[in-house]
Amino acid sequence: MKADSHQRALQLIAQARVEGMPETDRNWLRAHLEECDFCAEHARRTDRALRLLRTAPISLPAGLASRTQFRVRLRAQELREREPKRRALWLACGMSWIFGVASAPYVWSLFQWLGQRTGVPKLVWEVGFGLWWSIPALFAVAVLLMESSRRGEQADWINQGS
Ligand SMILES: [Zn+2]
Repeated sequence: MKADSHQRALQLIAQARVEGMPETDRNWLRAHLEECDFCAEHARRTDRALRLLRTAPISLPAGLASRTQFRVRLRAQELREREPKRRALWLACGMSWIFGVASAPYVWSLFQWLGQRTGVPKLVWEVGFGLWWSIPALFAVAVLLMESSRRGEQADWINQGS
């Protein structure tokens, strides 16, 4: 296959997302994607990146997506890199909450039993139970604070640079 046809395919993939394309071009591109894995993969990546942009929970500056294909790709890549980390964080928080809720009755009886064994006043072991239960929440808040302060530093650094 000629290198020209790949070039044309990549051009059309970008064009299709921004302004659409004529029927003849669409048919040509479809035929090319069917027999060219490289360009088909590129089309998939472009779609995925744009989907990610649309579902991103942060607000993007107006017009960013339409300004240039290059910036869209840059932004999508940045989001892709950050996304797994954030998902892992929420997953960890969710897991610890679920674990916390599921194990609460057992922990309550454990604290109760310890309280009765050691003769500690009821209020003390009740507070202990409350503290134990709020650890996942405190942990999540600490991680989020750390992350937002780090992002703030990064923004400062970028602002100083310009
Ligand atoms: Zn191709």
